[in-house]
Order: sequence, then structure tokens, then C-alpha cells
Amino acid sequence: NIKPLIAGNWKMHGTSASLSSLEAMATGFAEAASDADGVICVPATLLERAAGVVEGSSLQVGGQDCHPAEKGAHTGDISPEMLSDCGAIYVIVGHSERRADHGESDGVVADKAKAAWRAGLIAIICIGETEAQRKAGETFNVLEEQMAGSVPAGASATNTVIAYEPVWAIGTGLTPEIADIEAAHAHIRQHLRKQLGAETADSMRLLYGGSVKPGNAGDILSVENVDGALIGGASLKAEDYLGIVGSVG
Ligand code: 13P
Repeated sequence: NIKPLIAGNWKMHGTSASLSSLEAMATGFAEAASDADGVICVPATLLERAAGVVEGSSLQVGGQDCHPAEKGAHTGDISPEMLSDCGAIYVIVGHSERRADHGESDGVVADKAKAAWRAGLIAIICIGETEAQRKAGETFNVLEEQMAGSVPAGASATNTVIAYEPVWAIGTGLTPEIADIEAAHAHIRQHLRKQLGAETADSMRLLYGGSVKPGNAGDILSVENVDGALIGGASLKAEDYLGIVGSVG
């Protein structure tokens, strides 16, 4: 049995004023979580203070991206070692917004995942099809290609989490049918068995992301092979995040 992970992604939201909401999440997490891990991936500018806020609670913090190198002449970039130094436990890599906004290829995402491991971080590797790809019936092919290209050899259940985020479900209020989530997650698990071996694949956490809210979290989190969620908008408010955490059953 896999312990679920309820991960929040604040994206480019949050200033000092947002730390009070993080504090409420940290305070309420243990009570809301029956048996789940929790992480909030905050903007890098807040990371160190966020780590201080969650200290002593069972909630953890993470980053949203990292550079593959440990250090160097890369103005504006942040290495996983720097995130770890600020208290991050996890880092998201290959989010569709970074793949789109920054042209990140599967190869770059794989390098970032390996860099995350080098720094001792758990990589949350994101995959997911666009609306056009789904309509063209290419969803499974796209997922296979993304797994082959962005999940490096060496991925284990302790250093890697896979997040399935259909691009068209992100921030739209739309979610796939439950049966479609179930089929995609089963397919991901099956492919990971081939890629990483059954033992690793069967214990790796597969998160669903895309318009997860307190109102639909119970249904989504009870789908087979869904081992948690990656939450955008609804992770900004403590009430919403804790509502989702509370629906882990
Ligand atoms: P929303 O929950 O806002 O749809 O965002 C999902 C997401 O992209 C999390 O990484």
C-alpha cells in the first residue's frame, strides 16, 4: 500500500503575506491527514521562510523547478542544491507550464530529475497530454514518450514521484472522467513496470493533477493507481488544501 502524497504547487503566487496561509496548512495538516504526506511547492523567494513555517509539522516544502547544474554561470537559475539548502524536500520538474514557457524537452527534464537526486531531493516529474493530443487519440503514446524521455534510469519509489497532469485540465475546472483517469494511471503504471521494473513501478507514487478541488478530491483520490494529487489553485488557501487532504480515504 502506497502512502498518498498531497502536493501543492503555488506556481507564481505568493509573497510574505501568504506565509500565514502556509502556517494554517501546517497547523491543520496532521489532523486533516488520515495517512498522507504533504508538501507545498512555493516560489523560490519564499522557500527558506516557508521551511521555517512548516518546521515541527508533518507538512514539507519544495521547489517548482531547478537547473541541472550544481552551480555556474547561469544568471537567474537556481540549483537543486540551493533549494535543499533552503529546506526543500521535493522539487517539481517538467511541469507543462515550464515545458511550454521555457521549451523544456524531455531530455532537459530528465537532467533536472537527476540533478534533484544528486542534491538529495525527491523529484516530482510531470507528464500529460494536451487537448489536441487527447482529441487525436494520442494520449497513451504521448505519456509513453514522456516517461521514456523524462524519467531517468535510477528512478525509485523514494527519489521520484510521477504526476499525471492533462494539460487541458490545468486551471480550467475541467477534469477527465474518472474512468479516463483510471485508464491513464493504469497505463502509466504498466509502462513504468517495463521501464523501471515491477518492484519499483508498483511502489512509486502516481499523482493526478489538474483542477483538483475539495469537491472532486474524494472521487479522484479513490481511483486505483492514484496515489495522491498535485494541486495548483486549490493549494493557495488552507481551507481548500486541508479539505483535499481530509478526503484521503
Ligand atoms: P490547478 O489545480 O490549478 O488546475 O493546477 C494544476 C497544476 O498544474 C499543479 O501543478
